[in-house]
Amino acid sequence: MIEAVKSALVANLEKIVGSEFVSTNPADLYIYSYDLTPAEPNWPDVVVLPQSIEELQAIISLANKEKVPVTPYIAGGNVGGLTIPLKGGITLDLKRMNRIIEVSETDMYALVEPGVTFGQIKAYLDKHHPTLMYTYAFSPPSTGVMANAIVQGLDNLSFRYGAASHWVSGLEVLLATGELVRIGSGAASKSWQAIVPFPELDGLFLGWQGTTGVITKMAVSLWPKPKHSTALSFMAMDLDGAYAILQAVIRTRIPDDLIGTSFALNKVSQLAYEHKKMSMYPAVYRTQEEPEFVITAEITGNTENELKAKVEAVKEAVREKCKGIKMMGPDTMPSTTAAFPMQALGVLSSGGGLMWVGSYGPMSAWLETIKKGCELQDKYDITRSCYTRIMNEGHFAGLRWMLPYDKEDPELVKRINDLCAEQLDLILEMGYMPYKTPVWAVRKLEERVGPDWLKLHRRVKEMLDPNNIFNPGRWGMPRE
Ligand SMILES: Cc1cc2nc3c(=O)[nH]c(=O)nc-3n(C[C@H](O)[C@H](O)[C@H](O)COP(=O)(O)OP(=O)(O)OC[C@H]3O[C@@H](n4cnc5c(N)ncnc54)[C@H](O)[C@@H]3O)c2cc1C
Repeated sequence: MIEAVKSALVANLEKIVGSEFVSTNPADLYIYSYDLTPAEPNWPDVVVLPQSIEELQAIISLANKEKVPVTPYIAGGNVGGLTIPLKGGITLDLKRMNRIIEVSETDMYALVEPGVTFGQIKAYLDKHHPTLMYTYAFSPPSTGVMANAIVQGLDNLSFRYGAASHWVSGLEVLLATGELVRIGSGAASKSWQAIVPFPELDGLFLGWQGTTGVITKMAVSLWPKPKHSTALSFMAMDLDGAYAILQAVIRTRIPDDLIGTSFALNKVSQLAYEHKKMSMYPAVYRTQEEPEFVITAEITGNTENELKAKVEAVKEAVREKCKGIKMMGPDTMPSTTAAFPMQALGVLSSGGGLMWVGSYGPMSAWLETIKKGCELQDKYDITRSCYTRIMNEGHFAGLRWMLPYDKEDPELVKRINDLCAEQLDLILEMGYMPYKTPVWAVRKLEERVGPDWLKLHRRVKEMLDPNNIFNPGRWGMPRE
């Protein structure tokens, strides 16, 4: 950006939010220029942190008039390079807009601003509405509730309810042209209980990676907090066995959450805990006596008896449908998934990098995809690190290979990039679609969706954002 244009922009932004909430200091801009992945960094020209709708409206009007790119940002933890400002301009850090505006006990939703985090909503509900809960991802508690729904996240209630975008019951969106639009029942009433029976215009903003408007309010579903919970864990000695166990559990429709991880990843995490240093390379392999894959079903109940009956029903289903399959367990444990993020965070501390090919795809291709993906990890001498979450009662699956890495190790970065390129080709071939699609994967996806899909996508984008200010350069968009 030309210096004189930048000075004028900064002066105007300072008038809107005050100089303490605008920065061009390289020490501040640096953190917005990169993320956990090896994606090429790019610097914003300025970062601005508004607190009110009025400030936000003034910023967007200014950016639209001056045709300055705007990248919405909460914690930058999407693991897809989605908040790296590819064209510079303004990084719009929305952390200060962090009010939980309303919680409806009876209609079971929370109306939140963009900066509300998973940690914040949990603490708030525990204190003020202890009978209700929201979901959580494996991402750090500082990541955004709204952002997670925008990127169609997979969370601990996804076995029951699918991707996080499916639990949105209303939106308020600021368009590039300055209009503030409400979507769902909140458009016509005080209550934000559902999008239906309106046209489902939320689809113009969810899954778009912040390229069509700034979401200023979001209503998300809450659920009654179960009184009793446990985790049932099965350890399969091979991937065929893992698939059979998953199918048996899916058909019970009982768990809240159903996930699986490569045992070798757990082994490396354990080593990292002990030695405060984690390395995926050279690969750590399981021994012959150790399992290949760990499956965990989170089960909840209103009473101890209900919980016990559900646990028994899941065990029974596996016993019946998995005769002859070599496995360890089932073991019943206290809910364990909450411990996993702590391990993931430990992992991040050893070198700061995290990369994966993350995807959603059909259960029918799960086994072949996972087998081939793990074989690719063997080929690159990188520890098998598959993580799967079964979505929407088994109608599709989330699949990714977690790749924590040391950012200072160029040999490992190359190895991981090469592995991911091959894993991307594999998943696409198998009918899995890269989620939170990073720029390095978009070209391949664009080739698959066909020209008419792209034409429609671009038409919608042009209609909503005629000056292409919102997070330009993302998926489906023309490259200059
Ligand atoms: C260790 C680790 C584990 C993770 N595990 C999971 C997991 O289990 N499940 C999962 O789903 N995700 C996971 N993630 C990814 C991610 O952190 C979450 O999905 C998270 O909720 C995104 O929040 P964020 O605040 O980091 O969003 P950001 O990265 O800041 O933003 C995400 C996207 O949303 C856009 N955006 C943000 N706010 C707005 C707005 N108001 N209007 C329009 N666009 C906006 C941004 O421009 C960007 O494109 C994980 C991440 C890490 C680091």
